[in-house]
Amino acid sequence: METTDAFVGLECVDCGTRFDPEEATHRCPDCDGILDPQYDYDAIDLSREDFEARRFDSMWRYEELLPFTRESAVSMDEGATALVEAPKLADEMGVGRVLIKDEGRNPTGTFKDRGQTVAVTAASQHGASDVALASAGNAGQSAAAYAARAGLDAHVFLPSRSGFTQKAMVNVHGGDMKVVEGRIGDAGAAFEDALAEHDDWYPVQTFVTPYRHEGKKTMLYETIEQMDWEVPDAVVYPTGGGVGLVGMHKAAKELRDLGLTDDLPAMYAAQAEGCAPIVRAFEEGRDVHEPWQQPDTICGGIEIPDPGASPLILEALRESDGGAVATSDQDILDAAITVAQNEGVEMGATCSAAASGAWELSQRGEFDEDDTVVLLNTGHGSKDDDVLRSHLMSKGI
Ligand SMILES: *Cc1c(COP(=O)(O)O)cnc(C)c1O
Ligand SMILES: [Zn+2]
Repeated sequence: METTDAFVGLECVDCGTRFDPEEATHRCPDCDGILDPQYDYDAIDLSREDFEARRFDSMWRYEELLPFTRESAVSMDEGATALVEAPKLADEMGVGRVLIKDEGRNPTGTFKDRGQTVAVTAASQHGASDVALASAGNAGQSAAAYAARAGLDAHVFLPSRSGFTQKAMVNVHGGDMKVVEGRIGDAGAAFEDALAEHDDWYPVQTFVTPYRHEGKKTMLYETIEQMDWEVPDAVVYPTGGGVGLVGMHKAAKELRDLGLTDDLPAMYAAQAEGCAPIVRAFEEGRDVHEPWQQPDTICGGIEIPDPGASPLILEALRESDGGAVATSDQDILDAAITVAQNEGVEMGATCSAAASGAWELSQRGEFDEDDTVVLLNTGHGSKDDDVLRSHLMSKGI
């Protein structure tokens, strides 16, 4: 494998054993825990100026902090997305600045590309012929695109409720798609059954591969560099499986440990009221979630009733002195429309949970008047244009 110099291996978050990335490819061989890429930070000698001297052209510009070399990556220059000022939102929320990290500007329209570029690079370097996953939609589309680029076959399991765009684009990329009646859990079960029968399939499933949260780290590196190395006071993230949140919290600690920043941004998980296992666990002071019994939200991307990495998510929220907030579908869709009509930015229906969540947090007095709040627009509004438009129509305006 073409790994970077400081990447020293994969460490199990449960038993702490470290593994060689050539041998351990997915979960911990000893205890089935999540594997997390580790680096020798003493071997990384990079200043702010070193990063600033590089073109802002791809998330792989942080390659020293990623497992694989930029040259060897299956990449379409994903990342390097804009951080857009939202002054009207800042006024309305009564904070100093609101900035929208616009992940809609990725190759397949969502931040899932940051995870898939690293996961499919690993698959390719491990000699895989096929990648496979279950997804609510965006990760499946992204995996199909990166597999196509790498010359691999993709097997994508989507629930019937997935959006038209995502299903269509899996086909367009030449992916093998199975649409499973029901919701994300049903697609996950069908995927597990199929995986058991195909030992040549390489899973690129969330927190099954160690590399998706690793790729999503780069959203925070970029944000901080775009803010001239200032650390935002709060980062609000539309949370399903929590991959991006866990990744960004790791990134914040890395920058601090490398001496490039002084503190950590407060991380906030925003969920929909109809599926909020993380919010409930946070409010009840638990270290692990309880599965949500009746998931019911229009926000398919964050309708994850049983997020397996909840201990990592909850630890990130507490360690960063952040929090968790749930808002109704009505408020989430209203927020997407407010942002589109006031700031021009096109937020997806799932993504705007970050906006309505931040709004709710500001009303609770969680932010100070000079705070800088970053909202993750995890995907482009056009992925959910039908949902947004029917919401608008239903309001008679
Ligand atoms: C997958 C997805 C999310 C949730 O991401 P996690 O990291 O799993 O919490 C949020 N928004 C969009 C648009 C997504 O596709
Ligand atoms: Zn282990």
